Order: sequence, then C-alpha cells, then structure tokens
Amino acid sequence: MAKNEEKNTGTIKCSFCGKPQDEVNRIIAGPGVYICNECIELCQEIIDEDFSTVETDLKDIPKPQEISDTLDEYVVGQEYAKKVMSVAVYNHYKRVATDSMDDIEIEKSNMLMIGPTGSGKTYLVKTLAKILDVPLAITDATSLTEAGYIGDDIESVVSKLLAAADNDVEKAEQGIIFIDEIDKIAKKKNSSQRDVSGESVQQGMLKLLEGSDVEVPVGATSKNAMVPLTTVNTRNILFICGGAFDGIEKKIAQRLNTRAMGYGRMNADSVDRNNLMQYLMPQDLRSFGLIPELVGRLPVLTYMEPLGREALRSILTQPKNAIIKQYEKLFEMDGVKLVFDDEVLDYIVDKAIEYRLGARGLRSICEAIMMDTMFDIPSSGERRFEVTLPYAREKFEKKKFLALKQVG
Ligand code: ADP
Repeated sequence: MAKNEEKNTGTIKCSFCGKPQDEVNRIIAGPGVYICNECIELCQEIIDEDFSTVETDLKDIPKPQEISDTLDEYVVGQEYAKKVMSVAVYNHYKRVATDSMDDIEIEKSNMLMIGPTGSGKTYLVKTLAKILDVPLAITDATSLTEAGYIGDDIESVVSKLLAAADNDVEKAEQGIIFIDEIDKIAKKKNSSQRDVSGESVQQGMLKLLEGSDVEVPVGATSKNAMVPLTTVNTRNILFICGGAFDGIEKKIAQRLNTRAMGYGRMNADSVDRNNLMQYLMPQDLRSFGLIPELVGRLPVLTYMEPLGREALRSILTQPKNAIIKQYEKLFEMDGVKLVFDDEVLDYIVDKAIEYRLGARGLRSICEAIMMDTMFDIPSSGERRFEVTLPYAREKFEKKKFLALKQVG
C-alpha cells in the first residue's frame, strides 16, 4: 500500500498518468511502480466494458433448451439428436464468444450424425442454421477429392459457405458446414489399390476441421475462375458430418461381445440388442474405416432413429412447414381450398414405408399425387379440391415409376 518512506525524499508519481501524490486521493505502490486511484477506476471501467461485450454476445446465443424447443416446431421426433445437437451448438458458440479470453481453450464441438437416408439429418442441420441465423454450406463427401484430382477439392466447401454468407468473411467464419455421406469415404479394408477417394480425402479434411486459413475465390464456387481470392479461417466454423454407416451396428455388436467375454465388464444379457446405436463409441467408427485423426476431430456423436409410421404421419401434417401445409398454402394462393382425406395421408405413409423411402419419400409421393391437379386447378375456376383415396391411388400408380426415379 501507499505507505512509503519515499514520501519525504521526493515526488511520488502515478506511473500511468504521471500525476503526483498531492493531486490524487490515493496512490498504491507495487514493486517499482505506483498507480493512483483515478487510474485504477479507469482500468476497472475498461475491464467492465470488455466483460459486458462478451456477456451480450453470450446472451444472444439461444440456450440448449430454447434451441431444442424451436427444433421441435420443425423436426418430428429425434429427441436424442436434438438434445446432443443443442448442447454442442450452444457450447460451440460459447467457445466462439469467449475466444482468447483466457488460457482454458474450449475445444471445438464438431459433430458426427449417424442415421439412415431420409431420417432428417440434412433437415435438422438446415433448421439449426436457420434458428441460429448463420450461413450453411452442404456438401457430399463423395464429391470431394484431394486437390489435383477431378472433382471438387475439399476446400471448395468453404467457398460455398462464403457464398451462403453473401461473401461476408466474418459471417462465413461463424457458419456451419455439413458434410454428408462421410461413411462413403471410409477406408476400405483389404484394398490393395491406392485409395484416392477415401483415406486421402479424410486426411485432407483434418486441417479444415481443426481450423486453418483457406484461400477461396470471392463470388464464385470454382477456383479456376478469374476472381479475387480472400482468406477464410475455419477455426470457428462448426463442422457437422453425416452418414448412414450401414452395418455399423455389427461393429458395435462385435465390440460388445468381445468386451463381454474378455473382461466380463459388460453383461451380454444386459445389452439391448434392438437398439445397438445407443452404445456407439468412437472406436466403432474406426472399425468402420474412419481414420483415428478424423474420429478425434468429431468429438460429438449422435444418431437418428429410423422414422416409424407414426413419425412419418406427423411429418406430413404437424411441423410448421409440413408438406401438407405447403400444398394447402399453394392452393390457397389461387383461392382454392385444398382438403386431404385422412385415408390419403395413411396411404402416402404406407407407400413411403413400402418403398423404404423414409421421410424423403413423402414429398415425392405427394408430388406424384398432386401434379395433375396443380397443373389444372389454377385455370379451372374451382374453389375447392378434395384429394380422395381413389384419386390419390390412381395418380400415384400412374406416376409411381417416375416418383421413385426422382428420389433415387
Ligand atoms: P437425410 O439427410 O437424413 O437423408 P433429409 O434431411 O434429406 O434426410 O430428409 C428428407 C426430408 O424429409 C426433409 O427435407 C424433411 O422434409 C423430411 N424430414 C425428415 N425427417 C424429418 C423429421 N424428423 N421431421 C420433419 N421432417 C422430416
């Protein structure tokens, strides 16, 4: 404290503002330095300001419960995936907000989502990006190649993101990149050929996922175009990978069996064989053919349930932008009241299940049923249209082949 004997010997001045002791209320001494009460107050104000900006940033991030509730309005079921995702996203944006504040660096929460085709992986990510109001780029791992090979190089997805952010680099740097079909670039076992499309693409993704500076063209999606380049850093971009991982349940079962026999830690009888996905562990992804480095960079794992009859039925009518609501709105714009009979909805669900199309099939089945009337009704002058079961059946059976081809 400012009790010092130097008082009489000379002038003590604040080392920060230079004011002598008699011009301020108090001077505090440290080893070789002095600070006055006015400078302390000023410092405090600066610190408070720093914290308050971080706090407002944090306040802007919706809480996991809020994220999950909003997802509920659009996405039917998938409670587990929604929960895991809401927490991961919340933590990710917390990490972005507190970036470089202290030594405890929060690690990235890049995510891997496993689920059959049409179970809503892409839809969930799209909805999430919309809720968070961040740009989103979607790509397919199978279309990616190492730089120098034919196809999109891995970094091209960053330019897609920049385009989605209207070329605003700062916005893009906090966006989401969804890489689908990641299971298709798994390392093939017993393959003697050099594996250009699989393992090397996984290798190529590592730096991107971790965070690196990527040079991308502004205002174009091809590097060959003659456009200026800009640098996008991927450190704060949230990467979500998705894939069906057909057969991974076998790997899980194998691991559980070995464990049950090897160490007796897991009682084989207590394993719920009907839902093996709940036991998913990073090593199962390695057995499937993802390289350990990639698995390590996707610390958040979640899975989507296959959609049952009930879920499919609600997807048709319940979400905010449910397919049936969309048709009703389209017809309403022509002044036509559109009515679907209940049996029609059941029929659509039946067909989606029969052809193993999942939720994605619902849309194409509806399109097949609705195409003719969407063509005719605007010029017919009718005010009401009822879709009956015989009508739906007739239209679907006629267009069935076409509809399935569109899905494939
Ligand atoms: P995936 O990416 O898993 O192959 P998609 O996300 O493309 O599946 O799903 C296809 C379509 O099915 C979506 O566009 C959406 O309309 C619908 N859908 C799928 N799952 C759901 C769900 N759980 N709730 C609401 N709609 C869904």
